[in-house]
Amino acid sequence: MQTRLALITPGPTPIPPQVEAALAEPLLHHRSPDFRALLTETLERLRGAFATDGEVLMFAGSGTTGMESAVCNLLSAGDRVVVATAGNFGERWVRICRAYGLDVEVVEHAWGEKLDPRRVAAVCDGARAVFVTHSETSTGVVHDVRALSEAVAASGALLVVDAVSSLGGVELATDAWGIDVVVAGSQKALMTPPGLAFAAVSERAWKAAAGARLPRFSLDWAAAREAQRAGNTAFTPPVTLVAGLRAALRLIDEHGMPAIWAHNRRMALAVREGVKALGLGLFSPDDESSAMVTAVRMPAGVDGQRVHATLRDRHGIVLAGGQGPLRGKIMRIGHMGWMSDFDMITALAGLELALIEHGHRPPSPGAGAARAIELFAKTAA
Ligand code: PMP
Repeated sequence: MQTRLALITPGPTPIPPQVEAALAEPLLHHRSPDFRALLTETLERLRGAFATDGEVLMFAGSGTTGMESAVCNLLSAGDRVVVATAGNFGERWVRICRAYGLDVEVVEHAWGEKLDPRRVAAVCDGARAVFVTHSETSTGVVHDVRALSEAVAASGALLVVDAVSSLGGVELATDAWGIDVVVAGSQKALMTPPGLAFAAVSERAWKAAAGARLPRFSLDWAAAREAQRAGNTAFTPPVTLVAGLRAALRLIDEHGMPAIWAHNRRMALAVREGVKALGLGLFSPDDESSAMVTAVRMPAGVDGQRVHATLRDRHGIVLAGGQGPLRGKIMRIGHMGWMSDFDMITALAGLELALIEHGHRPPSPGAGAARAIELFAKTAA
């Protein structure tokens, strides 16, 4: 009998007990002083998480809602935009921009490649906005958005960053790196269930929004800002999720972001080394930049989708399979949010067992977990 699923994925991630407790609190009315205090504290802490003095807007919805809000608030039909892609989520920007009738120039990179700032900058002149991904969850690559920001600055185009699977897990300095808009979601490094989307908006982006003509209503940034400034939301918010998020942000602030980033890098290192000890190849980069998701190549002849199902259904371990062209070919292990060394050991041991069940023999029993334990012991806090 399965008692509990271990969510070792790049989202949704496990929920800390403090967040679970907050989610179970009696429901507040959203037009009440208690909710106003909850929202105000949460938004203040979010500004810290985004490293911005600007406004962070909150919307009911998933990460994609935050992405869509950036497109429809910043642009007008027919505007020329640049999207740099190297995986599923870069391609999502393309699809949203096309759905809104924008003139989209795609700077396509192979899945798994790192975005090349020079290639992106070369086509930015005349573009109103450039859309990039920070952590490309489908490949495990964390792109250098600081270098991308420097590279596109001269063009005057707005830089919009999808940080859905990175915010809170690896460094992202919205203001200091000159990023105009950062979007994120609640369910990954922010350790809250799915359902909240965020957009951090710079002064330059507010100016662009004032002249942007694409239609929007429930995602209108100006309406959200006006309500938030009064300690309110424009529409009924997912009150319970906001309570959960406040608890998560309090925890994050208690630990401090740099300690969390170091924890994620340490877990990622143990996973990479453990994967290699299992005789498997890495699809994601074998360096510390890949701190949120490790993508593991499945051995030849082994269908990753079936391994994924075995892990989940027989062993209660949920990893993430491959997306798009990588379906069946890779397995993704998340190391963000409320995860510990033992989650990584579970992932490695589970992967080994499931591979054995699918006919693949790793070098020696427990080699992956053993290597991870060795590294954790060396770097114990
Ligand atoms: N961007 C990235 C980088 C993501 O990882 C995800 C979720 N996997 C999204 C966007 C989309 O978020 P959602 O599924 O919450 O809409």
